[in-house]
Amino acid sequence: MKITRKWNVVFLCLFGLLSVVALAACGDSSNQSAPAASESAPAAGEAAPAAEAKLPTFGVLIYKYDDTYISTVRNALAEALEGKAEFQMQDGKGDQAAQNDQLDVMIEKKVDLLIVNMVDARAAEGLLAKVKAAGIPVIFFNREPDLNVLKTFDKAAFVGTNAADAGNMQGDIVKKLWDEHPEYDRNNDGKLQYVMFQGEPDNPEAIARTEFSVKKAVEDGVQMEQVGQTYVCNWDTAQAQQAMESALAANEGKIELVLANNDSMAMGAVAALSNVGFNTEGGDPAKFVPVVGVDATDQAVDAINKGLMSATVKQDGPAMAQAISALALNMVAGKPPLEGTTYTWDDSGIAVRIPYAPFFKE
Ligand code: CA
Repeated sequence: MKITRKWNVVFLCLFGLLSVVALAACGDSSNQSAPAASESAPAAGEAAPAAEAKLPTFGVLIYKYDDTYISTVRNALAEALEGKAEFQMQDGKGDQAAQNDQLDVMIEKKVDLLIVNMVDARAAEGLLAKVKAAGIPVIFFNREPDLNVLKTFDKAAFVGTNAADAGNMQGDIVKKLWDEHPEYDRNNDGKLQYVMFQGEPDNPEAIARTEFSVKKAVEDGVQMEQVGQTYVCNWDTAQAQQAMESALAANEGKIELVLANNDSMAMGAVAALSNVGFNTEGGDPAKFVPVVGVDATDQAVDAINKGLMSATVKQDGPAMAQAISALALNMVAGKPPLEGTTYTWDDSGIAVRIPYAPFFKE
């Protein structure tokens, strides 16, 4: 059953993507036939209608279509590049070997630029070696490779977030909730008993969120006490729901906070809580355990607005897509990546960081 459902989702995503590609492929000649009067008109005799200019081709490798946040970035990227580049996107389905094959195909097709969302960021070195040999400019995004590896290629850049920032912001959210809701201290011991849901065991982003969320809350003056182990649930709702059910059964009444590395897992925790009569819409305020995620997915925002979840950290997908698009169009034109943009490099000199923001009920 589960597998069938998952495949359905994958197929739906593929269908969605195909329509986007189809739209991108046939959409834009009309726009270009409406010249703006104020733009520099072509000099007499200079016949080069924009509609005939060949668009650059971008190869886009995605770690997994079946990921809510990445879908937001994908869709925003398709929008941002419409009429400016043609692109081919591939679903790595969480399999690095498959993504390596997809890369080979893109290189064979001689795409003009690559946009890569690694399945396993640690595999970037091998992937980059091929890209470098082919001389294709590349932008990595979201899942962060070792930037020292990226620096070995002068046509590489990274667009992402600062891994510690999301955790720090979760810590600040915890402090705010703790100050505003003394009732969250269910056992009145002055400490906040929490459970932690981690995305993946070795993912740097996941590790940083787990670490800094608690560290920041402690720095802000909240006494934090972990209940049970850290539940590694692969960013996945169903796995988190199952883990939360076990956690609730083993620690009845002892859990005062749920911290999750992403909203998909937070939603799993909310579902498990709802099943035992907690965190329901318009329910008893005493029957509520605060849940804090990261991403601000549509589902989480909806849950927060309905009072099922406390807050999330907004990872701005459209802003990330805008940055990727701006850098890509510069790089493919042989210009410095940041030319004409408001973006700045971080200390590494090759990475642009998109800031996070806290999100509470609207
Ligand atoms: Ca307590």
